[in-house]
Amino acid sequence: MTTDVIHPAAEEATATLPIVSHWIDGRPVEVLPDQTGPVYNPATGQVIGRVPRGGASEVDAAVAAATAAFPAWRDMPLISRSQVFFAFRELMWRRREDLAALITRDHGKTFPDALAEVMRGVETIEFACGLPVHLAGMNTPSVSTNVDAFTLRTPLGVTAAITPFNFPVMVPLWIYPIAMACGNTLILKPSSHTPGASQLQAELWKEAGLPDGVFNVVYGGREAVTAIVEHPGIRAIQFVGSTAVGRYVYEEGTRRGKRVGAYTSAKNAMIVLPDADMELTADAAIAAGYGSAGERCMAQTLVIAVGDAADRLRPLMLERIANLNVGPGMEPGMDMGPIYSAEHRESVIDWIDRGEAEGAELVVDGRPFRHPTSPDGFFLGVTLFDHVTPDMEIYQEEIFGPVLGIVHAATYDEALGLVNGHKYANGTAIFTTDGGAARRFKLEVDVPMIGVNIPIPVPAGYLSFGGAKGSAFGDLAMRGEDGIRFFTQQKMITERWPEPGRRSTLSLVFPGNS
Ligand code: NAD
Repeated sequence: MTTDVIHPAAEEATATLPIVSHWIDGRPVEVLPDQTGPVYNPATGQVIGRVPRGGASEVDAAVAAATAAFPAWRDMPLISRSQVFFAFRELMWRRREDLAALITRDHGKTFPDALAEVMRGVETIEFACGLPVHLAGMNTPSVSTNVDAFTLRTPLGVTAAITPFNFPVMVPLWIYPIAMACGNTLILKPSSHTPGASQLQAELWKEAGLPDGVFNVVYGGREAVTAIVEHPGIRAIQFVGSTAVGRYVYEEGTRRGKRVGAYTSAKNAMIVLPDADMELTADAAIAAGYGSAGERCMAQTLVIAVGDAADRLRPLMLERIANLNVGPGMEPGMDMGPIYSAEHRESVIDWIDRGEAEGAELVVDGRPFRHPTSPDGFFLGVTLFDHVTPDMEIYQEEIFGPVLGIVHAATYDEALGLVNGHKYANGTAIFTTDGGAARRFKLEVDVPMIGVNIPIPVPAGYLSFGGAKGSAFGDLAMRGEDGIRFFTQQKMITERWPEPGRRSTLSLVFPGNS
């Protein structure tokens, strides 16, 4: 349905087949071919490069570099630190199409979608540019006679970000600029499925003047993650990915005294009231369910239609589905690219099989889809189920593919009960023209990120982002004010200076504030 034109620079970047390397202490690290794994272009199904399988020794080297870089980075005048972020922001902006092309190449999402991802990530760098203001503490003079109190926010030391395949630029950018703006050094462990954009970011940091060792990248899977979780030199970790891995990182990390935030899987539902603008709602449901092949943690994968809403919404959704273009993400006019890996494509197919077996009505079946000119690409068509019920596994579990389910509820209260009863709580939305109903929903729903007639309510890059229940572990969200609090140690200082001519008196009584 879209008719976007691809920039020539983006086409050129797609043609390159780089072999990525770890980035430690401001330079790439050579790896032997037998210590690497394949990187696929999901649109063609071809191997396009190699990514290192790092482990404990690479994490050790990165921690050593980050530890050595920490004191000077912590002590750098705030405005000088901020200037590095301004320079990085300019470079990221200039190279946004190259970054987007690398995302499309490794992940499969359409180029305009990848470009939008880059822009949303850049918002968080822009927030980080204001670090001199964000790091301000509070001053409370005269808490007692001649005694003043104030707070400082100081960095923690070496920190880490472990990130998923589905937003190779935006999700790392939601974490590491905040960590580094606060004066920490960092090790990024990106997904091995989508490594290209991390390499370019490391190079751009160098160009922006970031001191060596402040930003390091180690590729790898379970071994690298375990090494990060267990390393005594790492003080804090933010993880984004599946609930199973996030729970491990959170439990094992916090057991070792680290500060950990893990932002994990989701099964988001949008409630549609009978008074909703159905055209707008149908656009929203299709965009949120199938955009990026459903591989977004904020995808709406359940449409809970109240009363007769489904009768009017379903035909409108079918009209839109009939016009969707599925194909290589670099081709203009595509709405949806391939699934990111062959294995995940098989897993989504298994889920569709299961939904059918569980008795949901299979209205549109994406399984038979083959792309005519890219038969080896990991493509799937879109799938729509109706009459999905809460006892079904396709209702309960995250599928993370282009599979949307309509659920029927008799009343608003029943619909709300379904959303609040789900084990995941990342994002939700209500579609209605009734302000009072929307107000009730905002107050009553037990999900932290809420859209009102907005299907993907991802807060702006300078605000905090995070779910609850099975969708998040830890007390603070990512980014924004929460991000600053997560990546700093607050110190409370109570201070008195001797007054000339005034003698102190000895007292063993607990100090009062008078
Ligand atoms: P994943 O859990 O497989 O991988 C996340 C990270 O953990 C990657 O860096 C990966 O290399 C590593 N990893 C994978 N398996 C591991 C293992 N067994 N032991 C240790 N480390 C391991 O997640 P994914 O498939 O890359 O991403 C999709 C998931 O991420 C979905 O569940 C999605 O909902 C979630 N997600 C959540 C958010 C959020 O903000 N809540 C945002 C984006 C994605």
